[in-house]
Amino acid sequence: MASSWSTSRVARAPTVAVGDVTILPILDGELDLPAEEAAPDLPPDARPTALGQPIDPNGRIRLPVICHLVRADGRLILVDAGIGPWRWNGWARGRLDLALGELGVRPEEIDLVVTTHLHADHVGWCAVGGGGRDARPFFPSARYLVARREWEHWFDAARGGDGSVAYLGDAVAPLGRHAALDLVDGEAPITPSLSFVATPGHTPGHVAIGIASGGERALIVGDVTHYRAQLEHPDWSPVWDLDRAMAAVTRERIFRDLEDDPAATLVTSHWPYPGIGRIVRVRGRRVFRGL
Ligand SMILES: [Zn+2]
Repeated sequence: MASSWSTSRVARAPTVAVGDVTILPILDGELDLPAEEAAPDLPPDARPTALGQPIDPNGRIRLPVICHLVRADGRLILVDAGIGPWRWNGWARGRLDLALGELGVRPEEIDLVVTTHLHADHVGWCAVGGGGRDARPFFPSARYLVARREWEHWFDAARGGDGSVAYLGDAVAPLGRHAALDLVDGEAPITPSLSFVATPGHTPGHVAIGIASGGERALIVGDVTHYRAQLEHPDWSPVWDLDRAMAAVTRERIFRDLEDDPAATLVTSHWPYPGIGRIVRVRGRRVFRGL
């Protein structure tokens, strides 16, 4: 499907069509994280080649942070809200706002913001303004959809005094105060073509976003996977997976579901940009074929 989006300088990747739905990956930024956290069970000298992605001299692996702009069923939908403007944890400021500007998309045009989970690199642009009285949803016309299981897990932690989730007060709690939030139970439909798919493990309420249209399908997998080597080694769970065993089971289930289906597209959030393609078997090995 032709789209004016593909001419942008910021969003260099082409729009991907899934039936009547289009998906545009937008790079909000990058995170440089310790490689030993990505694969804690691997011997250190095995990591550089085994992970299949460069590791810098400080032992860090670079993970892109990719948001997805989806047009489906007459609505403009943002899947995950990136790092945002906050500079939490010393991270560089996210660029999603600039990318949307180059695309000619104004924040008020976004109808829905859907989050795969509530980690800081997926909610940064939900609300802006400092977390206090000036805090406001960055997308002022949007409904924000969060899995109820996920919301309850993290806000229970916040109420319990867990300082590591202080970012929720800046970027997520204002959504509730502005009545922009919808908590979603189970694998509910989002629009006729989009639905939540339960993918617990990385976090308790983690969801993937399933897309089905015109006999084709795609899955925006969020943090079901962080790097390509997990295709062959789905049991390599990073320390960022809260339940590493469950995350491995979920990862294998999702890869197996998508592999060798020419109508199925994998859409990733942390693989090298744009991170969209198909999973195929080549001589028994699971291989990624980028689109
Ligand atoms: Zn993430």
